[in-house]
Amino acid sequence: MQAKVLAPPGPALYPSGPYQPVPPGPQVGSYPPAPAQPLLPRPQIGILPSHTPPQSASPSPGPRPAQATPPAQATPPPPAVTSTSYYTGPPAWQYAAPRGPAPNHVNPAAAAPPLMSHSSTQPPGPGAPPTSIHGFTQPGSAPPPMNPLPPHTYQPNRPAYGPPPTMKPTAPPAGPPGTTGTPPPPKADGGFRSARFQSEVLGIGDVAGNGPQAPNSYNHVDNRMAGAAPPGRHLGHYPSLPPGYQNTSAPPPSSLHPALQAATQPYTQGPQPYQQVRLKSDLLSPSMAAMSLQSSTPEALRVVNLLQERNLLPPAPVPAPTPCLTQDLQKLNCSPEVFRCTLTSIPQTQSVLNKAKLPLGLLLHPFKDLSLPVVTSSTIVRCRSCRTYINPFVSFLDQRRWKCNLCYRVNDVPEEFMYNPVSRSYGEPHKRPEVQNATIEFIAPSEYMLRPPQPAVYLFVLDVSHNAVETGYLSVFCQSLLDNISALPGDSRTKVGFITFDSTIHFYNLQEGLSQPQMLIVSDIEDIFLPTPDSLLVNLNECKELVQDLLKSLPNLFEKTMETQSALGSALQAAFKLLSPTGGRMSVFQTQLPNLGVGALQSREDPNQRASAKDVQHLSPATDFYKKLALDCSGQQVAVDLFLLSAQYCDLATLGCISRYSAGSVYYYPSYHHQHNPAQVERFQRDLKRYLTRKIGFEAVMRIRCTKGLSIHTFHGNFFVRSTDLLSLPNVNPDAGFAVQMSIEENLDDMQVVSFQAALLYTSSKGERRIRVHTMCLPVVSSLSDVFAGADVQAITGLLACMAVDRSVTSSLSDARDAMTNAAIDSLSSYRQSALTIQQPGLLAPACLRLFPLYILALLKQKAFRTGTSTRLDERVFAMYQLKYQPLAFAMLMIHPALYRLDDLSDEGALNIGEQTIPQPRVLQLSVEKLSREGAFLLDAGLVMYLWIGRNCHQNFLSQVLGVSSYAAVPEKLYLLPELDTAESQRTRAFVSWLRDQRPFFPSLHIIRDESQLKPHFLQNMIEDRTESALSYYEFLLHLQQQISK
Ligand SMILES: [Zn+2]
Repeated sequence: MQAKVLAPPGPALYPSGPYQPVPPGPQVGSYPPAPAQPLLPRPQIGILPSHTPPQSASPSPGPRPAQATPPAQATPPPPAVTSTSYYTGPPAWQYAAPRGPAPNHVNPAAAAPPLMSHSSTQPPGPGAPPTSIHGFTQPGSAPPPMNPLPPHTYQPNRPAYGPPPTMKPTAPPAGPPGTTGTPPPPKADGGFRSARFQSEVLGIGDVAGNGPQAPNSYNHVDNRMAGAAPPGRHLGHYPSLPPGYQNTSAPPPSSLHPALQAATQPYTQGPQPYQQVRLKSDLLSPSMAAMSLQSSTPEALRVVNLLQERNLLPPAPVPAPTPCLTQDLQKLNCSPEVFRCTLTSIPQTQSVLNKAKLPLGLLLHPFKDLSLPVVTSSTIVRCRSCRTYINPFVSFLDQRRWKCNLCYRVNDVPEEFMYNPVSRSYGEPHKRPEVQNATIEFIAPSEYMLRPPQPAVYLFVLDVSHNAVETGYLSVFCQSLLDNISALPGDSRTKVGFITFDSTIHFYNLQEGLSQPQMLIVSDIEDIFLPTPDSLLVNLNECKELVQDLLKSLPNLFEKTMETQSALGSALQAAFKLLSPTGGRMSVFQTQLPNLGVGALQSREDPNQRASAKDVQHLSPATDFYKKLALDCSGQQVAVDLFLLSAQYCDLATLGCISRYSAGSVYYYPSYHHQHNPAQVERFQRDLKRYLTRKIGFEAVMRIRCTKGLSIHTFHGNFFVRSTDLLSLPNVNPDAGFAVQMSIEENLDDMQVVSFQAALLYTSSKGERRIRVHTMCLPVVSSLSDVFAGADVQAITGLLACMAVDRSVTSSLSDARDAMTNAAIDSLSSYRQSALTIQQPGLLAPACLRLFPLYILALLKQKAFRTGTSTRLDERVFAMYQLKYQPLAFAMLMIHPALYRLDDLSDEGALNIGEQTIPQPRVLQLSVEKLSREGAFLLDAGLVMYLWIGRNCHQNFLSQVLGVSSYAAVPEKLYLLPELDTAESQRTRAFVSWLRDQRPFFPSLHIIRDESQLKPHFLQNMIEDRTESALSYYEFLLHLQQQISK
């Protein structure tokens, strides 16, 4: 199919230039002329050739200094942060000696490494950080395996994973095809590698389905979305012989780990806010649907000439590729919504990885809201050598011994583990929930603790300067907290406190017995102290009335203030002092640039340079004050969440450090005003509700382990790397995503599969110490073609975005942009040279990477990285934060928004969820070519949605959905779809709410006419079109082709 220009519906639609195919050739006008030399030294984003010295931010291998990740910014590693400021304080978690000899399971005392041996900043002794205390041993510090056999000697005993069924059709699973509201079973089209294209977007139910739910008192399902599983559902389907019990090479697939029925079962109980269920047919691109049995090439490797094939987008959101594992193994695998790898087939060697020129890394959403099996057991079985938790991908040599799938150490099965509480039988360790669920949560036994888990502690730090009062945010905040105060996660120990600040710091004595809150003002901001340390953080249950009184009176208290200064730094120091003894969550609301006392900042943004400058300055912090304070917070288990509400520049690049290194979140509401910006107000209200009531984990740490030979080296997200690979997360929230980069240190020659395990240890708001474990298994492949075939284009894009953010800060924006472009050039070039057997003209990509150039172009046009368009510095920095911190699904919406036509919604192919029918319009390409003046189009860009109304929009839509008589009657500022009692209105609202319900933040909706001031914002998302400063998609392809053919 040829790239084709449709006749423009009208000139008004094309203010910024329509999609204009340029005949192949050198005349790519608007792009800066390609340099005579290829862009050398080519920024090696994502590619870490073994011979290249490690990049500054990712020294690998070997232990890295604790401060090295996240990548060092302009801030030097903590010269001024003394070790004592991290790790003194109350003794944190420590292993107590276990109650008795436990030869094989966790032996905390023995496992605890010499605590601080890896970092000079970590003094040994009682101040040990939670890290090691929980048995998260540091690499190298664990005792050597008792039976250090080389991997190949295990081969006979390896579980019969078998080679990936590359050329063999997978048997269709039993069961009826998916129906609406139900995750469909794996695609049963008999196509080659059909497992790879399993046509479902795994929903929450699938994760839940990973395990038996509430089978008995032994394990129960985590609250919320838990639904009782039918009794007996998990019984009676196990094979007679467990995997790995046989030393034979290949038991029939069905006798491997039993497939959990739930994996393909509908999960319909309870609200499912993030469930995204698609009809099978929706998920197949036409080309995929046309896959034939006769084809000798797997669909992922079908050669696509990008210059000819224009309609690349599947009609529904792109699903995660399914790893090429046996069906039985894959059924046990972790949901891609929780754990995803950029390459679902792991290259055997670093040299193959280098050849592929694709980044290798993991994307995680570890604390996602989901229902999962929870195990209360006195025995948490872990590998004695590498501390890996027992998981579905270990192998049992016999009933009494299991082999670790990460280090291959053979471990004994402890006696307690022989009893299976699910089947209530003895001698079936392989049927335990721990071995049946890739995602599972343990309640840590008390012997893991030295002190009681901390209570939920919430401290609110509120800007009450004149500027803050002017925005009107304070009353929204107070009302929201009043409304949700009973829903704050916690128990009878929950504590709350408040600090307000302008040029001085105000504390609130809320001690029980007072008749009203007492305000205490500290004006010495240079040497901040707590006036009455014991009565500022109070028990919420006991002092609820005083707290409510305070919230009711706060907005009026500062109504008349003329105080314009902001001593944010001192307020944060005070808050830190207040929270230090317990740890907890600090929620900071700030509306202007702090300009007084410690941490005062000056404006660094020059509005005149926003669009013109080739490179963007001031992406790195102006001072390390906020980072250092964040590290102090991290050491005391305090996380800082920042809500920035401002019309002016606030230097988010500097302020954001307070959240970034303390594992907090950043929320940003540009131009927030209670009257002038109702869309922001609604967003703020909704976000606050979610923020106040969502699940929270305290004093958390996360460690990611992987099979020997692989090495994890650079982390992305909000946290502090406490030791080599242990992320310190004073708080963990269900909306946080993480990414890590990996390299292959040793050849994976004899391995058919490798595994990755993320273990998140946290204290629940109810004071339980819990460990959430996710394990993912992936095949190892030796050929470059197979590596390409397993490429997960969205995960690759998400990881590249994280890497590009780092590059923008450590080097320059233009360097990051070049690096992203080169990532596309290099991988397609490598594909052409090394993986393609038949050469043909055109810009060729394997089908699985067909969206890669589009996504790269989308990144170049994204707010974080774009040039030539006026972009506020804070908005750019916020977009960068979001790209690094959001789970992949949401980051992808920011990168490549979804466009839908809404004026012709129908029930055809709709989802039925409960009583509701949710239409499923197809996703359109981001080009004005797809718009029509007769239509109405919704652009969903993650945090914001635009509903664009064409000038000749159908009268029916105007009256039945918008409730107006004509196009001219559409108000200039419209943020809500009116609730009309018409089928059209219901459909439209159902669809928009459904989109919103799937994400943890609230996107505002702008309904705009063609003349609206916001139209340029809408059009900036038309990524495939040319703008004055950026290439069209077709031009970009030509540029890539030109570079590749050099
Ligand atoms: Zn191990």
